[in-house]
Amino acid sequence: MPSLGSIRRSFAPWNDPAAKPYIAFENVSKKFGDFTAVDNLSLTIYEREFFALLGASGCGKSTLLRMLAGFEEPTAGRILLDGQDLCGIPPYRRPVNMMFQSYALFPHMTVEQNIAFGLKQDRMPKAGIAERVASMLKLVRLEQFARRKPHQLSGGQRQRVALARSLAKRPKVLLLDEPLGALDKKLREETQFELMDLQHELGLTFIVVTHDQEEAMTMADRIAVMDKGEVMQVATPAEIYEAPATRFVADFIGTVNLFEGKVAGREGQKGRLVGADGSSLRIDNLAGAENGVAAWFAVRPEKIGISAAKPADQSLNAINGEVWDIAYLGDMTIHHVRLDDGRIVRTSSINDRRAAAEQLTWHDRAWISFRPDAGIVLTR
Ligand code: ATP
Repeated sequence: MPSLGSIRRSFAPWNDPAAKPYIAFENVSKKFGDFTAVDNLSLTIYEREFFALLGASGCGKSTLLRMLAGFEEPTAGRILLDGQDLCGIPPYRRPVNMMFQSYALFPHMTVEQNIAFGLKQDRMPKAGIAERVASMLKLVRLEQFARRKPHQLSGGQRQRVALARSLAKRPKVLLLDEPLGALDKKLREETQFELMDLQHELGLTFIVVTHDQEEAMTMADRIAVMDKGEVMQVATPAEIYEAPATRFVADFIGTVNLFEGKVAGREGQKGRLVGADGSSLRIDNLAGAENGVAAWFAVRPEKIGISAAKPADQSLNAINGEVWDIAYLGDMTIHHVRLDDGRIVRTSSINDRRAAAEQLTWHDRAWISFRPDAGIVLTR
């Protein structure tokens, strides 16, 4: 059986001009009084996609999900599902189910009663309910807990009951609002992989809201980064990380060093970025940034080397500074280097040997260095 990784790698309907989106937000806005929570937003999501909405608290993620689920109506624009306009269709008639931030399990009901609840409301025949509940319990590996009440379960188990309950009605789309928020780090990581397996096994479309960027990176096929009701970028985790479109996205996903300046001496893709203090960086991938344009070279910490001696390789950008802070994390070490103009640059190096050959310590002079193509040039 191929691993999930290889299947996911070949899944990219957004690159196929013939592929039809399953869900489309078209110029959707949502206002609460005169406050705009979602602002003229357009977005497409494909069938079987694991899609993540990522953004700071209050940026409109939940509002977007609630409109798709039918708990809110857009103030303007429309939402299509499989080509059908969802306007006016009540939540229970949409092939969409939502798992809420607080799992909201019924405390007086057992696990199996919780899972059966929605099916009973839909007046499914008893035998059908029993069969469906059994298969859900098996899916989330809670067979032996069927008769327990929620307070007799761990946080992770409760989360799995909530998941089983939202999957029991076989929705085509499952919306998950901070589904792992209540779990500790280790359980969270395990559950992320479980969710991915489950989504693949059931062939469903998952849209997950999170403000945890690592979680989005791990689970999602694509991520939409949102800010103040708008989508800033939609791309795969690798594209978002390696080729962010703006400083906001670069800074939101992971850590980034931003070197500011004006483009000069451009020839082809190569040129320089000249800082206000006259410092100059060599850049090999200027993309759309023309001479004279204000720009930022965004370089991830792991793409910056740190050494006591100036690197011999003349083609590198090398800047001298002082070791300001060190965080030893076991698998890697983070250095903050204070450049002579006061800027702090963050580097991270993998500790691939038990003791690094060169031990830099606080207040040592050090060189940071990076290749002219180590970062990406941003103009906004
Ligand atoms: P969080 O991560 O904190 O859940 P979010 O990105 O999901 O945040 P939303 O819940 O979508 O954010 O809220 C977006 C904005 O809309 C917030 O400023 C919120 O205060 C506002 N808002 C949401 N619902 C209402 C409402 N019913 N009435 C008024 N304002 C609302």
